Amino acid sequence: MNQKQMFINGQWLSAESGQTRTIINPFNQQVIAEVAEGNEKDTQYAIDAARQAFDKGDWRHTPALERGKLVSKIAELIERDKQELAELETLDTGKTLTESIADMEDIAEVFRYYGGLADKDGGEVIESPIPDSRSKVVREPVGVCGQITPWNYPLLQAAWKIAPALAAGNTLIIKPSEITPLTTIKVTELIEEAGVPAGVANLILGSGAKTGQMLAESHLVDLISFTGGIETGRKVMTAASSNFKKIALELGGKNPNIVFDDAEFDTAVDQAMNAIFFHSGQVCSAGARLLVQETIHDEFVAALVERTKQIKLGNGFEDTTQSGPLISEEHREKVENYVTIGINEGAELEIGGKRPKGADLQQGFFFEPTIFTNCHTSMRIVQEETFGPILTIERFETEEQAIQLANDSKYGLAGAVWTKDIRKAERVSSELRMGTVWINDFHPYFAQAPWGGYKSSGIGRELGKLGLEEYTEVKHVFENTNPQPLQWF
Ligand code: NAP
Repeated sequence: MNQKQMFINGQWLSAESGQTRTIINPFNQQVIAEVAEGNEKDTQYAIDAARQAFDKGDWRHTPALERGKLVSKIAELIERDKQELAELETLDTGKTLTESIADMEDIAEVFRYYGGLADKDGGEVIESPIPDSRSKVVREPVGVCGQITPWNYPLLQAAWKIAPALAAGNTLIIKPSEITPLTTIKVTELIEEAGVPAGVANLILGSGAKTGQMLAESHLVDLISFTGGIETGRKVMTAASSNFKKIALELGGKNPNIVFDDAEFDTAVDQAMNAIFFHSGQVCSAGARLLVQETIHDEFVAALVERTKQIKLGNGFEDTTQSGPLISEEHREKVENYVTIGINEGAELEIGGKRPKGADLQQGFFFEPTIFTNCHTSMRIVQEETFGPILTIERFETEEQAIQLANDSKYGLAGAVWTKDIRKAERVSSELRMGTVWINDFHPYFAQAPWGGYKSSGIGRELGKLGLEEYTEVKHVFENTNPQPLQWF
C-alpha cells in the first residue's frame, strides 16, 4: 500500500490528528493509496512555514536566474519520471495513459517555460516628469500563495500554479483535490529533490472545506489561486476578502463549438467528438455545446451519433481504451441527473444517457457518451456545466444568431468556430466573449499563451507571461537625486 504524507517546512509529515484517507481507482474502486488527512492545524503549520520562509528566508532574494534554474531542474525531473507520474495520474483519475503521458509532457514544458522566464523582466525605467529624480517600476513576489486545484487535471493545474509562483520568488502551499492527490505528492518529492529550500513549497492534504477554506481565509496568505467549480470559487472569493488578498480564479465553462455549413465536414465532426468526449467531458474547456448551422444539422448529428456508438470505454491502461470512467460515484450521479433534467426540459436524447452494460465496466464509474438535440439556451442542460460526456446540440441559421447563442451564457472560458471563410471566422471570434477562441480547432493550449475566462469563468490568467505576472506585485520606486526642503510648513 502506498502511504503518503504532507510536506511542510521541508519535512514529510503525517496529519497532526493521525487521520488518513484512502484513495481509490475510479476504474475499479480498488484502494491505491492511503494519504494523510490534514486539518486546520496542519494548514496553519504550513501557512506559518511558508510565511517564515518568505519573510525570513533567502528565497525571494535569490537571483531570478538561480530560481529559474531550479524551476527548470524540476522540469527535467518530471521528464525523467514521466512514466511513473503518468501511471499515477491514470490510476487516480481513470484517464487513459496516453492522455496522462501527454499531460506530463505539457507539465514539464510549463516548468521549463517559467524556468526560462524567471529572469526576463528586469523592470522598467520611467521618464520622470520631476527634475532631479529617477523613477523605475519593479516586479516583486506577492508573498505567501495558497493554491487549490481540482481533480480533473490534478498535476497540470498544480503545475500552472507552482511553476510561476516559484519562478517569481514566492513561497506556496498547494492543496490538491482530496480525491486526486497522488501526482501532486510525487511532484513535491521532485521539488524537494531539485533543492528548493525548506518552507518554500509546502503540500497540504485534506478536505477543501477545512484546508482550502483556511488558505483562502488566512491573513498570513497574500494570494489565493483557485481552480475549481463556480460555487466553491464564490466561497474562496468571499473568504479572500477578509484581508483583500490577491485572487486568481479559474472556474468552469460551458463552451460553444460553432460549426458553419462551409466547414470541412469530416474534420469538424471528428473534432466535435474530441471537444466533448475527451476525458469523458471532465474538462473545463470541453466543447459541451455544439451549435450547428441549420443546413447541415441533420447530416452532422447523424455522423456524430454513428461515431459515438463506436467509442470504446474501459481501463485507461489498455491501448484500445478511448475514454475512462468518471471520477466518482457522486459525480456520476450528478451527470446522470442532468440527463433527467434534459429529458424533462424537452431535449431529445439521441444516444447514451445511461450507465454502460459491459461486465468489465461495472466496478468503475462509467457513463455512456450522450448526445441531446433540440436544445435551447433556455435549458439548464445548455447553461450549466454537467462536467460529463453530455453534448447538447443547438441549431442556428445566421452568423449573428450563432454569435448571439454562443454568448448567451454566464460562462466565458473558451469556444471554437469552424468555417473555411477566414473573414467570417475572424468576425465571429472577435465577437465571442471568451478567454480563448479556437478557429478550425478545439482544445489546444500551451505554456506560452494565457489561459482564463471572461464573465463567471474566472478572474486573472494562468500560463504565458501573464501567468507569471499574477504572482508579482508592481512597485514604483521614485528617487529624488537632489532633495531640498519644501518650506511649506
Ligand atoms: P471543486 O469542487 O470546486 O473543488 C476544487 C478544489 O477546491 C478542490 O481542491 C476542493 O477540495 C477545494 N475546495 C472545496 N471546498 C473548498 C472551500 N470551501 N474552500 C477552498 N477550497 C475548497 O471543483 P472540482 O469538482 O474539483 O473540479 C471541477 C471544476 O473545476 C469544474 O467546474 C471545472 O470547470 C473547474 N476547472 C476549471 C479549470 C479552468 O482552467 N478554468 C480547469 C480545471 C477545472 P476537495 O476536493 O478536497 O473538496
